[in-house]
Parts: sequence; structure tokens; C-alpha cells
Amino acid sequence: MGKGIISRERLLVVVSAPSGAGKTSLCERTAAELPDLVHAVSFTTRPPRPHERDGRDYYFVDQQTFQRMIDKGEFFEWAEVHGHLYGTARSELEKHLAEGKDVALDIDTQGAKQMKRIFPQGVFIFIVPPSLKMLEERLRRRKTDSEAEIRRRLKKALEEIRYYKEYQYVIVNDTFKRAVSEMKAIITAERCKSFRMDLSFLREGS
Ligand code: 5GP
Repeated sequence: MGKGIISRERLLVVVSAPSGAGKTSLCERTAAELPDLVHAVSFTTRPPRPHERDGRDYYFVDQQTFQRMIDKGEFFEWAEVHGHLYGTARSELEKHLAEGKDVALDIDTQGAKQMKRIFPQGVFIFIVPPSLKMLEERLRRRKTDSEAEIRRRLKKALEEIRYYKEYQYVIVNDTFKRAVSEMKAIITAERCKSFRMDLSFLREGS
């Protein structure tokens, strides 16, 4: 640490939610509005949806490439979700942390559990829809998934919601604007926590 400079441990923000809870837009908006917060891009074997771009929404790879990355220990965590593989690459996370950024990860409850073991000092946030009816409506509005896929995602949503107590914070995404402001408030407060700060220069200077 340079003399006279306050340094702060970077934040790892882990965000989980049942699909359809509005997590992606919420994470994107929060990252756009808060300086020095970036959204880490995951690897997946799921095919891209029409509006999705490689390298922005996900790194889209085939099964063999993903398996090779598992074998080489290139993931901090990975999980099978809705029949596809998803994982957080070490390189992606380390790149952002080295640049001095706080990093948000949008991962499922299995991935969050693994990350909690590796980064117990992380910030764990769970997003829930205001009701199950709303969740179903959002999944249908997306018009990208088949009926069977919607059913599968709803079933998984019910299973995932049971894990909310594993997270330090819960945000109810009823009004998008309020949910964004709650997420910004959580991250802002976490940035100020004393255990993340190094003020040793104050002693050096005295
Ligand atoms: P979707 O296919 O709708 O983009 O994402 C499906 C689920 O996979 C979501 O719950 C999302 O949070 C999760 N997911 C996305 N990336 C990762 C990842 O890198 N690791 C894990 N464990 N889950 C992920």
C-alpha cells in the first residue's frame, strides 16, 4: 500500500435469484450506476438467446471446452443448471479484482454455496419476485423459453427460494427503481465496513 493512501479490500458481490426475478437487469443497472462495480461474465454451454452476445452476456462454449476447463481447475465454481453447465472462471474474477474493481457475480444457489466457502467475506444477496404469479408472468413475457422450459424453471425457482436464509440480504423486486436503490445501498454500506479498510498510514504518519 502506498503511504498516506486509504486502501480497501475489493468486494465480491454474489447475487442469486430464481430465473424471472429480474436479476440480470437489476445487476446491469446497479453496475452502470455505481462506479467501480463490474459484472463478471460466466461461461456456459447453454446456447445463446437471440439478443445475447458472446463475451457480454456469457462466454458461450461447447461441452468439451467446458469440461477441459473443469479438468484444468480453471473455475472457482461451476454447476449444472437447467441441464446446462455454468461456471465462474478464475481468470475473469482475478482480472477485475486486480484492476481494483468490485465484482458482482450472477450465479445460482449451488454456485453461491461454493463461493461462500472460498470467499466468506463476500456479500451475498438474494433477489425474490413479489409473488409466484409475477415470476410466472415474467418467464412467459420473455418468450424465449418453451412451455417445458418454463415449467422446469418454475419448479427450480420454488426449490431455490428455500435457500434465502443462506444470504445476508434479500431484495424484493417489486418496483425496479426501488430494487436498484436497495442494491446500491447494500453495496455502498458494505464498501464502508471497517474490516475492509486499511488505515495503517494514519499510525505511520503520527
Ligand atoms: P440463464 O440461463 O437464465 O441465463 O441462467 C440460469 C441460471 O444460471 C441463473 O440462476 C444464473 O444465475 C445461473 N448462472 C449463471 N452463470 C452462472 C455461473 O457462472 N455459475 C453458476 N453456478 N450459476 C450461474
